[in-house]
Amino acid sequence: MGLRQALYGEGRTSRRLSRVLGALHPEPSTVAGRKPEEVQARAVAASKKKPLFLIAQMSHETNTYSPVPTDLARFAGGLPGSGAVPLAGPAVAESFAGTRSGVGAFLELAEEAGADVVTPISASAPPSGTVHDHAFEYICDAICDSVAADKPDAILLCLHGAMAVESHEDGEGELLQRIRELAPDTPIAITLDMHCNFYDEIAACADTVAGYHTYPHEDMYETAMRAGRPLLAMMSGDAKPVTSWGNRRMLPHIMRQSTLDPYPGRPFKTPNKAIQARALEMEESGQALIASVFVGFPHADISNAGLSAVVVTDGDEAAAAALRDELLDMCWDSRADWVFEPEPLDEAVGRAMEMAATPEEKPVILLDHYDNTASGGTMDTTTVLKAVLDAGLDDVCFYGIFDPAAVQEMAAAGVGATLTLSLGGKMDMPAIGLTGEPLELEGTVLTL
Ligand SMILES: [Zn+2]
Repeated sequence: MGLRQALYGEGRTSRRLSRVLGALHPEPSTVAGRKPEEVQARAVAASKKKPLFLIAQMSHETNTYSPVPTDLARFAGGLPGSGAVPLAGPAVAESFAGTRSGVGAFLELAEEAGADVVTPISASAPPSGTVHDHAFEYICDAICDSVAADKPDAILLCLHGAMAVESHEDGEGELLQRIRELAPDTPIAITLDMHCNFYDEIAACADTVAGYHTYPHEDMYETAMRAGRPLLAMMSGDAKPVTSWGNRRMLPHIMRQSTLDPYPGRPFKTPNKAIQARALEMEESGQALIASVFVGFPHADISNAGLSAVVVTDGDEAAAAALRDELLDMCWDSRADWVFEPEPLDEAVGRAMEMAATPEEKPVILLDHYDNTASGGTMDTTTVLKAVLDAGLDDVCFYGIFDPAAVQEMAAAGVGATLTLSLGGKMDMPAIGLTGEPLELEGTVLTL
């Protein structure tokens, strides 16, 4: 659209945790207090019937300020109102087997345990507005109906922790409570995203809880293993998981949550890398079965948005509470480092122009974080694009505007055509009192 295009930053490799999974939770060879005849009885029982594991996914990061609707179709990768439904039944296992996902890890654990699996649903939607009741009920029913009908021996769930539904601000807690009513004694393991907003009901209903240790997230598989292995140990009588959780009145800014810090030359430090490393150390040293710090999801107008820590130990409640407090104190003590001071846009654009004039500083990236669809943004706002155009910046690659109608207009005009159209700003944001502001632009269609 009149802007010269350039592509930057493709193919960047991501850093990975170097971690030996098997070493995280070595299973004890002997267990105090367990009599040989009990072991024998369990072995006989096990030989009679294969255990059945229920594995399912319900995942959504709810930005309650977002105008982007979250209906059932969004959980199936479809457009709102399209009628698409999430993957269900054996297709879930077929799709996730052998993948480095949370569901993939749970499937591996089931195989390792010699269990059959039932996979009632895998429902995962990109971040967006409050989840519609009908979508939540559909997903809950799929899981709960299977709990009631199949009577699984274990339930392993990949959840997010920041799902807010029209009728329930803690979607995960509501699901877990419904499951518990049907299966009061069935072992339950859950994984949660680091952006979980934690509630009592989650801790009360799940036996083992594990959250990601990385942001950007790249340890979904490892997290499911961290949740699942202690549950298997519990089922075999080798562990008695007890959970302690707590929070602090902190809403860490997403721009200060990275665990990649420090980047060379970065002008500030973020505290999360050291805190997550300490949580991992608690697990690897055997102090805790599982230790997780959740930075919370701040774009949610709910009562429990914010930072929390959850520690699961082997039967030692006092130790779990002490480790939880150690992690929370680390977070609170570094609270100033979780604050991000946004730079006014005109100043940022001015600084970008200065930096662009210095050859070694290129490329310069202007980031409109709150228009990030990975946090529930619309990608429909035009504020930064307007500032770039008003400032006369050139040699700019702009990414991107969500505007299907504009795409249709350009497609109709064809490559090489010059046209004027109204771009972006089609969605209002009533939750923050903003109306959309389309940009009237003239440009050339370079490619489709
Ligand atoms: Zn997240």
